Amino acid sequence: MEYHSILEKQIRKFLTSDYQENEELKNLLDTISKSYHAFDRDKKIADHAFEISEKEYQSVNADLQAQIDIRKSSIIKLKDAIRALDPTEANNFNGKDEDLINIINFLEIQIIKTKQLEVDLILAKETAEKASRAKSEFLSIMSHEIRTPLNAIIGTNNLLHYQDPLPSQKELLNVMKISSENLLSLINDVLDYGKLEEGKIILAERDMNLKSFVKNLRAAHRLRSEERGNNLRLMYDDDIPDFVIGDDIRLGQVLNNLISNAIKFTKKGVITIEVLLNSITDDHVYIDFAIIDTGIGISADKQGMIFDRFTQANTNITREYGGSGLGLTIIKLLLQLQNSDIYLSSEEGKGSKFYFTLGFKKSTTSLQDENIKILNSESPNLGNIHILLVEDVEFNVMVAEKMLQNWKATVDVANNGLIAVEKAKENKYDIILMDLQMPVMDGYTATRKIREFNESTPIIALTASITMDIQGRAMEFGMNDCITKPFNPNDLLAVILKYSKPA
Ligand code: ADP
Repeated sequence: MEYHSILEKQIRKFLTSDYQENEELKNLLDTISKSYHAFDRDKKIADHAFEISEKEYQSVNADLQAQIDIRKSSIIKLKDAIRALDPTEANNFNGKDEDLINIINFLEIQIIKTKQLEVDLILAKETAEKASRAKSEFLSIMSHEIRTPLNAIIGTNNLLHYQDPLPSQKELLNVMKISSENLLSLINDVLDYGKLEEGKIILAERDMNLKSFVKNLRAAHRLRSEERGNNLRLMYDDDIPDFVIGDDIRLGQVLNNLISNAIKFTKKGVITIEVLLNSITDDHVYIDFAIIDTGIGISADKQGMIFDRFTQANTNITREYGGSGLGLTIIKLLLQLQNSDIYLSSEEGKGSKFYFTLGFKKSTTSLQDENIKILNSESPNLGNIHILLVEDVEFNVMVAEKMLQNWKATVDVANNGLIAVEKAKENKYDIILMDLQMPVMDGYTATRKIREFNESTPIIALTASITMDIQGRAMEFGMNDCITKPFNPNDLLAVILKYSKPA
């Protein structure tokens, strides 16, 4: 038999060949050889096992190193983030292992702080909302409170004008008229600005005859324009469709303000109201409006700022003619609400041009349907018109009644909503003028009750507060239109002519 190579060598070195005669020796050598082979095999297995665990160790080690690297770069990133968040806190980290614990502590504190901040913010928001509600309510109450006595002043003034005053009295009455109207427009501006800031103005969509609308605007301003020696011209593009759909009250506000400014800042000059067709699409009509004057103009450095609230370019003029510096701000906000904007080109001493483009929905109404008669006729005759006036304040009744009787209309008066409902059941009226706030039954409820048995008689809301939400609400309750008190005779007449057919 062949022995293990090492044993073979030793046999050759130490034994003579006659060892093979000895059976016992041969057995011993046999066993030793097997042991040598077993050792070799075990060694091979051990070497192999060692080789495998070395590889495993290397791969585990590499994984561990990668994780350590990720941890390190995460810590660096966290530190950078914390440094951005709180530079002083980041100085407390020393670059050692305990940084991670410090970071976790820091983050814990941040989470607690953020949660607290969230709670504080919600509280602050609620407080701000409460304050804003209180402000709105205050404004609404003040508007009502201030406008009611103003109604009395402006109404009395209008009545006195009808009673043939002496020329000297006429002059004093005019002063009173201008002052009270200035005060009214100031109150309106402040209230409107508040509403616009809160985003509470909802635009109405009404059919409007744009041509007669701007003609009326011009007529309303002509007198004041002439007083200042100005020529007030209208350039109207007859390609504009007869009717468009838009918010006439808001457009009137924008144009009135621009025309008033043009008159205020121009003496012995020319003021042009320009209304031109820009374009017509499938469902919209776009119209370019411009108010151009040859007045004092606005220097280039002031042109940007006059659109800011409470800003005026020329304080001397303002002292003479009044103004709040809110007009252009309101115009800008009102136009922005209609996806438009106002532009100005002006040169000091030469004049100004304020212009904007406004989109209107197309209307299906035509001129033939038009029911509106020319305003401002010398003595409107409402002889065949039967009007129900629903109003609780005695003075308001007197003013409106006198005005209506001057136009020869027949007027019934109801002092609250309940009486109005009864009267509307018993009589056929051409138009109902409905105050909104009244004792016993308010105007909204009365309108709803009237609409249960009468859907056709036009009901016009009379309100002392001018918020647009009131206008929307009045429509929801079944009213057809809304005019604000103190109303000027033209507005009242316009609304009556719009909804009824005088003989
Ligand atoms: P105000 O109530 O003072 O008229 P506006 O916001 O309407 O407020 O106007 C702001 C200022 O812009 C005015 O005070 C005036 O200085 C200037 N301004 C406005 N319109 C004209 C104009 N047509 N010509 C010259 N200056 C004007």
